[in-house]
Amino acid sequence: MKYDYLIVGAGFAGSVLAERLASIADKKVLLIDKRNHIGGNTYDYYNEDGILVHKYGPHIFHTNSKDVFVYLSEFTEWRPYEHRVLASVDGQMVPIPINLNTINQLYGLNLSAKGLKEFFEEHAVKIPQIKNSEDVVVSKVGRELFEKFFLGYTRKQWGIDPKDLDASVTARLPVRFNKDNRYFTDTYQAMPLNGFTALFNNMLSHPNIHLMLNTDYKDVVNIIPHKKMIYTGPIDEFFEYEYGKLPYRSIDFKFQTLEIDKYQETATVNFPNEHLYTRVTEFKQLTGQQHHQTTIVFEYPNDDGDPYYPVPKPENTELLNKYRTLIPEVPNTYFVGRLATYRYYNMDQVIAQALALFKKLTPAHEEKLPYGERFQINA
Ligand code: FAD
Ligand code: UDP
Repeated sequence: MKYDYLIVGAGFAGSVLAERLASIADKKVLLIDKRNHIGGNTYDYYNEDGILVHKYGPHIFHTNSKDVFVYLSEFTEWRPYEHRVLASVDGQMVPIPINLNTINQLYGLNLSAKGLKEFFEEHAVKIPQIKNSEDVVVSKVGRELFEKFFLGYTRKQWGIDPKDLDASVTARLPVRFNKDNRYFTDTYQAMPLNGFTALFNNMLSHPNIHLMLNTDYKDVVNIIPHKKMIYTGPIDEFFEYEYGKLPYRSIDFKFQTLEIDKYQETATVNFPNEHLYTRVTEFKQLTGQQHHQTTIVFEYPNDDGDPYYPVPKPENTELLNKYRTLIPEVPNTYFVGRLATYRYYNMDQVIAQALALFKKLTPAHEEKLPYGERFQINA
């Protein structure tokens, strides 16, 4: 039999396309992953103590896209959840992103929103053209707060200085004048009720989808007949590193299960200044699971492990663009997802990118898309 599509990678990019092509366009799909599980980096499982953990670090779903939320709601119910993070700074635990509560607590002040605006105006450095991840923060809150909250964390996370990273990296965090302690302010914020892997199981159980795990696509691509290929692995690997390696940042996840019900005040605590790890996350606070023990994970960034983070900086974009010029040389092959497009994308952005590619591949099926008003979050 000849497959319509060979899809490499069973993370969100590959799985959304497999599901759409199979169920809406009636295509025969072979979905391959070299790992022994589906879900890509969002994969979760019950550890030996029976606690639901995320194998590749904490994943919190949030989006402003109704289309993405409604689409995913076909495959899961939701647990309303708004993420909150504390940062350990100057011996205190204060909310991050920086907001009115952060500054008042850190400096023992009682500023109003207007007072905070003046405070930032006093401290902010005028930078005519924001060029990098240092400029973004220093131009909003000044050097002192940049050093307390961003400098150490960014050096640990990326192994380079914030001034060598694109502005978009630290710009992921807003600065707020109100007392909103939430990490995200997106319209839709929720965790899949039974976890991400359960969501993927629902997504991929379709007779047109044949799943092959523990398989590197290179071992089968010339053997199994297929008309088109969708690739969601690293783009430089696909082109056999013809122009050299694109840097990816990795993380070593160290899990610990403790004989206590609750470990820390918020689901995640960031450590910009002390320790080799960047943050500690307690899974039960994300998932809402009841259990007499609790599992936490420490994140130690490094250069050597699995490719988790593309590194946004000018010379990497240049190298990416060189690889992109090779794409027309491989007809009927489509690149999508965080690794294949080398973009620091959240889950919802990857899903939106995959849905957009589906529309492009099958314009005639667009009217069949089941987006609508059916699903509401019970926040
Ligand atoms: P992936 O999930 O990486 O899937 C790619 C798949 O391709 C992998 O399973 C891989 O095994 C497979 N593959 C690669 N090469 C081959 C090959 N040669 N042959 C076969 N298979 C191959 N996003 C959020 O929205 N919220 C969060 O809180 C959040 N937290 C994150 C925390 C961490 C530590 C990390 C690393 C990411 C986080 N993200 C978060 C981002 C999120 O993980 C990604 O946006 C999303 O999972 C990317 O999906 P993808 O399908 O593009 O890639
Ligand atoms: N960041 C920081 N201090 C913090 C939190 C974030 O310096 O307490 C910077 C750091 O460079 C980080 C980036 O902001 O990599 C984006 O943070 P985010 O929490 O979005 O990272 P992710 O969850 O994707 O790892």
